[in-house]
Amino acid sequence: MERRYALRVALTYAAFAALWIALSDGALLLLGLDGETAAIASAVKGWLFVAVTALVLYGATRRFTRDLSGANRRLEQVFEVSPLPIVALDADGNVARWNAAAERVFGWSAAEVVGRPLPFVPAAARTESRQLLERLEAGETLHGVELTRQRRDGAPVLFRLYSTALVDTEGDFSGVMAVIEDITERRAAVDELKRYKDHLEELVDQRTAELSEANEKLQRATGAKDSFLANMSHELRTPLNSIIGFSGLLLQDMAGPINDEQRKQLTMVNTAGNHLLELINDVLDVSRIAAGRVTVEPTEVVLDEAIESVRDTMMPVMREKGLEFVRDGQAGVVLTTDRRRFEQILLNLVSNAVKFTARGTVGVHVRTVGETVSIDVTDTGIGIPPEHVECIFDEFVQVNRPDASHEGTGLGLTISSQLVRLLRGTIDVVSQSGSGSTFTLTLPIDWTDAELASDAPRNGEPISMHLEEPR
Ligand code: ADP
Repeated sequence: MERRYALRVALTYAAFAALWIALSDGALLLLGLDGETAAIASAVKGWLFVAVTALVLYGATRRFTRDLSGANRRLEQVFEVSPLPIVALDADGNVARWNAAAERVFGWSAAEVVGRPLPFVPAAARTESRQLLERLEAGETLHGVELTRQRRDGAPVLFRLYSTALVDTEGDFSGVMAVIEDITERRAAVDELKRYKDHLEELVDQRTAELSEANEKLQRATGAKDSFLANMSHELRTPLNSIIGFSGLLLQDMAGPINDEQRKQLTMVNTAGNHLLELINDVLDVSRIAAGRVTVEPTEVVLDEAIESVRDTMMPVMREKGLEFVRDGQAGVVLTTDRRRFEQILLNLVSNAVKFTARGTVGVHVRTVGETVSIDVTDTGIGIPPEHVECIFDEFVQVNRPDASHEGTGLGLTISSQLVRLLRGTIDVVSQSGSGSTFTLTLPIDWTDAELASDAPRNGEPISMHLEEPR
């Protein structure tokens, strides 16, 4: 750049001087001046030449120095505003330049360090520093060498060094220029993060150990509870059967006549006993299903026969309440499913319909859709308030308490929905408070072909009771 500029100035000068000599001497000749006048004109021509070249050289030099100082100023600005410390050393290794960022990072001002050796090199790192300087002097460029040095207050500072040697116009080593990237905080953050991660792993291990211990305790407690319940249910059922049996015999006057008050009280004993027995049986059912101890044994089930059987079972109560039974929809459907489980579900739905209906009808409607059959069990009873519809399949949920003689256990629908899942079907309810309910049971026509129902019944979650009847 500078060379081109100097060449341009020299060429301009040479061209101007050549032209001047050729033209001015020619012009003097043309003028045909005599001896003395010619000498004066030649002297004036010479002075003019000197004046013009001086002016041209002055202009060129001014332009050059202005450009140079502009470039220097820009460099100076970059040097000062740089967020990274920039340090220059002279050929003897003393600080030549020290910018504001270097002051900020290391704590020494430029006035304190310029002309002296690098201040941040502690005694222990002097050899390493000298070796780096030698490598630079040998022409190597350093790209991000990580070094630990010292701040003015003695605190360690970790930085990456980017550095190269400076050479003068003759190509001789004249010092080094270094850009420094302070990574003390970043490294501390990374270390902190690592410590945190290690600690987290430790914490997770600790919590996992605690959890598995709690889990073991829970399993032990569940085992204890299971065997307690199983024993208790056995212990309860034996005397209960006696209570039910003997109160039944007393009610039938087998042990002699009883008066009205005795009959009333004995009926209460008998009803309560039956209710308790029903509850124990239901609890055992739920636990058996939850523990996966109920298996499906598919056989052919003639749907019409199953519905008739359930209707016959419920007929005495329906007659007593004056309810009408309506059977409609498709006839002649034959299912392949577990008969006992299927009839248990159907009986639960129909008996609920009867239980919660004071007048009107209880209906069973059958329709097949593709590979499935849907059985609607409808009633014109009290219905279920909308806020309770979602939870009636949960354990022990009882929304309507019709009368004392039909208290129920709140487990019928829980058992049904779990059995429906076993039969790879679904159960849904639509109900309106005051105007009746429709429970829809949808099952595969052939259980053996059906996939496991993806739409798990609301009560599909296994419950934690595991009961086994003592043998
Ligand atoms: P239970 O009948 O022994 O109380 P279920 O699990 O069979 O238990 O039913 C749960 C609750 O759902 C019942 O207590 C009742 O509030 C409600 N329910 C079930 N079927 C009907 C129905 N057909 N009409 C109105 N409410 C019903």
